[in-house]
Amino acid sequence: MPDKNYNTIIVGGGIIGSSIFFELSKSLGNKVLLVEAKKVGTAGATGKTGAIIRAFDPVPEVMELAVNSIDVFKNFKKHTGVDNSFFHHDLAYRTAVESNKIERLIEKYRFETDDISVRDADYFKTRFNFPENSLIIHDKGAGYVDPQKTCRSYALAGCIHGGVLLEGTRVISLLNTDGYCQGVKTNKGDFFADKVIFAGGAEGIGILDELFPELSNMLRNKRIQYLLTTIEPINKSHVTPPIVLDDISEFYMKPIGKNKALMGKVIDEWDLDLENISPFSNHDKKQIVDFFKQQLPQIKSIDVDTKVVGYDLYTPSKQGVIELSSIASNCLFVSGFSGQGFKLAPEISKAASKVSMAI
Ligand SMILES: Cc1cc2nc3c(=O)[nH]c(=O)nc-3n(C[C@H](O)[C@H](O)[C@H](O)COP(=O)(O)OP(=O)(O)OC[C@H]3O[C@@H](n4cnc5c(N)ncnc54)[C@H](O)[C@@H]3O)c2cc1C
Repeated sequence: MPDKNYNTIIVGGGIIGSSIFFELSKSLGNKVLLVEAKKVGTAGATGKTGAIIRAFDPVPEVMELAVNSIDVFKNFKKHTGVDNSFFHHDLAYRTAVESNKIERLIEKYRFETDDISVRDADYFKTRFNFPENSLIIHDKGAGYVDPQKTCRSYALAGCIHGGVLLEGTRVISLLNTDGYCQGVKTNKGDFFADKVIFAGGAEGIGILDELFPELSNMLRNKRIQYLLTTIEPINKSHVTPPIVLDDISEFYMKPIGKNKALMGKVIDEWDLDLENISPFSNHDKKQIVDFFKQQLPQIKSIDVDTKVVGYDLYTPSKQGVIELSSIASNCLFVSGFSGQGFKLAPEISKAASKVSMAI
């Protein structure tokens, strides 16, 4: 059984918790404990993520985080000492942001010449069907990673620095005494710490409401994902660039196998309980199939699995969440957010680590 006393306990081994674990272990070694209810990288939003690493973002603050984070994903071994495969792939998406604003952002945050460009829809016409007259971001610095492998690599790198990982251990509550958190109560006993970082995602397996009553419902939104199956294989020549995102309709699509693709869309706010999502309507189904056909006209036969396969936390401001709890002054809440939380994790975790070292 691991030691019972730590400087910092991190609750939750999704992409946020595992990257913070790595950051803190570098300076605190075996004084950091990561507690994960299941297995690192397999549960929560991280377990269902598209893990699309987009270099460009039309929100300046997010763009800055993305530019720095993508360098970590691309050179993971240099940053962590552990190997990880960044799969480089172009990405194109339609955006509602005006062209001059985009040009200014590209100018300001350009990290490699020509990595990002703005095109009109005609540029892609022969191989890629965007609607006429739309503004397309062509993001050549983009790609995706295996989310589970990335989280486990972060966790391994943390353990190499001495950090302690406890999987299959569920935090039941905080050990809270008069506005100060003494540690955590788990199904395997109590663990004590000077600080607790809660990175349990949107669900937080039951304790989010207790820890952060002020945040728990205000910041939630849902991104759902559908599984599409085609009879004809989706091969590389069908999809150039392969990851399609439409910021206006909020649809995105990512091939995940020979004849499977994931498609995401933001739907109902305030509705986090998957059991309570209204049934998949024929209208929804038609919209999804139409979008898919528009992007991949070569594929004729598509079936949409009506099962929702993912959801996560989202803030209206589209900023990452790093908040001190109002009920325990030494307890920090950190979370990824819809569509972005994975790609920004390297920067969010560095910022969160700095905040936690200062409390
Ligand atoms: C369908 C979908 C597609 C997405 N696509 C992208 C994308 O392409 N690019 C991108 O950048 N982002 C994307 N995102 C967003 C991104 O995946 C999330 O923002 C990010 O994974 C959130 O990570 P997290 O660590 O904050 O939370 P989570 O991944 O939810 O991790 C929380 C972890 O905490 C554990 N836990 C919870 N409660 C407890 C407890 N009481 N005790 C112990 N452990 C606990 C859970 O088991 C889990 O492992 C997507 C999200 C979804 C759902």
